[in-house]
Amino acid sequence: MTTALRSTDGPSTPPHPGPGAALARDLRKRGRRRLLREDTLTVLAWASGAAAVALYLADGGAGQFNSPSPALTGIGVIAGLIGTDLVLVMLLLAARIPLIDNAIGHDRAMAVHGKLGKPALYLILAHTVFLLLGYGMADGLNPIAEGVSMWVNLPDMWLAFISIVLFIAVVVTSLVAVRRRFPYEFWYVVHLLTYAAVLTALPHQFSVGGLFADGQWQRWYWIAFYVLVLAALLRFRIWAPLALTLRHQLTVQRVVPAGDGAVNVELTGLRLEELAGSGGRFFIWRFLAPGLWWHHHPFSLSADPAAGRLRITVRNLGRGSASLMAVKPGTKVSISGPYGLFGHAARTRAGLVLVGSGIGITPLRAILERAEFEPRQATVILRASTPETLYLRDEIAELCQQRGATMFELVGHRARSGNTWLPRHQTGLRLADYVANLSGSDVYVCGPNKWAESVMADAKATGLADAQLHRERFDW
Ligand SMILES: Cc1cc2nc3c(=O)[nH]c(=O)nc-3n(C[C@H](O)[C@H](O)[C@H](O)COP(=O)(O)OP(=O)(O)OC[C@H]3O[C@@H](n4cnc5c(N)ncnc54)[C@H](O)[C@@H]3O)c2cc1C
Repeated sequence: MTTALRSTDGPSTPPHPGPGAALARDLRKRGRRRLLREDTLTVLAWASGAAAVALYLADGGAGQFNSPSPALTGIGVIAGLIGTDLVLVMLLLAARIPLIDNAIGHDRAMAVHGKLGKPALYLILAHTVFLLLGYGMADGLNPIAEGVSMWVNLPDMWLAFISIVLFIAVVVTSLVAVRRRFPYEFWYVVHLLTYAAVLTALPHQFSVGGLFADGQWQRWYWIAFYVLVLAALLRFRIWAPLALTLRHQLTVQRVVPAGDGAVNVELTGLRLEELAGSGGRFFIWRFLAPGLWWHHHPFSLSADPAAGRLRITVRNLGRGSASLMAVKPGTKVSISGPYGLFGHAARTRAGLVLVGSGIGITPLRAILERAEFEPRQATVILRASTPETLYLRDEIAELCQQRGATMFELVGHRARSGNTWLPRHQTGLRLADYVANLSGSDVYVCGPNKWAESVMADAKATGLADAQLHRERFDW
């Protein structure tokens, strides 16, 4: 079945009035500020690598390049310094620091984190190989004999070799092809070994590397960098979730069916109005009940938080989400967040287009509830293969009615060939055919990967800038 339904145009006065031009100006200004933050962070990341090398050269490293053996050692040291710098940058990206999350979003931060893994490992391996060659040449030993000699004679070297093995394990289990073979939880636990890898690498940097030797500029640089990373991890990965959980004291109030294989989990808690405006963003949830407490899941809010009320909509997509279908009222819940840029803070234009498929509609419903827009400046497109998977459809239709947004329901299977996000019978159409003011709008997309990519490609082909396109991925 394929239906395209335009909702009745809503009232002439929106519940959140505001002159369109002023809103557009305000959003553009906010967008520019965010891009500036993003550029600043990019420059800082590059500068950290450059500083590591520059300080090493300034602290006497430059003098090493006048004969083959010290030159090989120097190359090894530089590879190790840049590799260590990359690992620390990766840890900062994974620390869920609001400054980074608000500038580039959690998913992009994690994508960059993932991309740095292989280069960091290659640099650490290059560090090992060049040092074995350099020291081996100086001692008249082959690299393997040199490795054995270092293991036996130098304190802490055995820990450094263990660190390399741990880094290899983390990077290999993170490769997409390998990762897909294991449950998420296995990958997650192996990934925690990164901390062990960093810790086991530290002692040889003190005792053998001289990185922290007295009188060196680089000593202060590296101490500051390590302390910054440790503080960020403690503050945002451990303290922030604990404080948030204790502050809001969430409890499951009720679980109600919300369409084919999905439920609304409604929660009560304290001071939830403080989270208002985070609709569309996601939290990481841990339900503290037997059999549930040991796994956590990211879920987006499907309604904007209000005093005493929070809601997520969960579809049964695997073992963990299946067990949430029957979570008992009264269950305590720990959370961390909100994370991601999929919300109001990412807006850059006065027009708003929300395109969701299947359970991907949940964050869009929350955004619609609170977003600022003039009547007829917002379009919601609900996409599903069958009417049963048009999740939250009635609520969204009512919100569109109240707020003066236009809604389309596009139901039906996709064509087997061609890269289209539309139902089979509407493949000739484009996003611009549904949205009058597409060029003056932000487009928010959430749904299955291939489908979402095809919506993004359609929007891009009409000339929309990257800053106008926002996507939430429900996978990892
Ligand atoms: C940012 C974000 C927001 C999401 N919002 C919603 C939502 O509002 N409603 C909804 O129904 N689903 C949402 N999801 C998807 C939901 O998190 C997964 O469906 C759920 O975690 C699956 O776990 P499982 O144990 O049921 O399935 P499994 O069979 O264990 O896993 C299925 C797949 O889910 C993913 N997954 C599992 N656990 C995690 C985790 N802790 N972190 C990241 N990915 C994981 C992995 O891709 C895994 O391969 C969201 C996902 C993300 C990343």
